[in-house]
Amino acid sequence: MKYSLFSLILIVMLGNSCSTGKYAASNKIYKQQAKAFASELKKQPAGVDSAMMAGQWVGTTNFGMRKPNFVIIHHTAQTACDTTLRTFTLPRTQVSAHYVICKDGTINHMLNDYLRAWHAGNSKWGNVTDVNSVSIGIELDNNGFEPFSEAQIKSLLDVLKKLKKDNNIPTANFIGHADIAPKRKVDPNKYFPWQQLAANGFGNWYDTANVKLPENFNAMQGLRIIGYDTKDSVAATRAFKLHFVQQDVEAKLTDADRKIIYDLYRKY
Ligand SMILES: [Zn+2]
Repeated sequence: MKYSLFSLILIVMLGNSCSTGKYAASNKIYKQQAKAFASELKKQPAGVDSAMMAGQWVGTTNFGMRKPNFVIIHHTAQTACDTTLRTFTLPRTQVSAHYVICKDGTINHMLNDYLRAWHAGNSKWGNVTDVNSVSIGIELDNNGFEPFSEAQIKSLLDVLKKLKKDNNIPTANFIGHADIAPKRKVDPNKYFPWQQLAANGFGNWYDTANVKLPENFNAMQGLRIIGYDTKDSVAATRAFKLHFVQQDVEAKLTDADRKIIYDLYRKY
């Protein structure tokens, strides 16, 4: 009994000390799936010979890989980075992200940026309804109710800098999960430093110092132009305030809030 407990502890310790060993099984599944997609890409499309689309296949010589055009930021709503890594390596959960950044600043890259992670779910931004197909998902280890650590934000900024440069992602297209799914999601939480991100070129910010609000300004139309799904105006208002106001996330627009929307929507 004494020995078996000792060996169990030893096995757990060895497992923890070697992260590739710990994720060897899921890494193998990753490789198999990536291989299957690679052979799919090599295939000559079959549809052209069907009755619906009679014609011949003429492969062009000029093409590249599709690139992500948005970055969606999340908080994990879990209590440890390891828990999230485990969640994203279990097939039955059907959720994932390209990056998971831990509180100590460790960056876990989980999926080739060209491939489609399952992080956005049912969401909408402007007329984009398949956000997973056009975006990179980044999860920050955070239980949902706490500030983000300096090391974590520093690592995030490093990742964003590379993603923006590699994929030429527009400044406006760095947004949060709550922005694209206002009825379902509240991440990243109100402590997320959106203003600091905007100062670094990731996302828009506002300056209302000289804004004079036109009397007939339609704030909901403004939110729609920014990208929010305004079908549920209460949810859209809350999501906007979580991102741009933060200290007050009541679903009620003050004149100050309306000024922010007026200044912002002209930047989109
Ligand atoms: Zn999320």
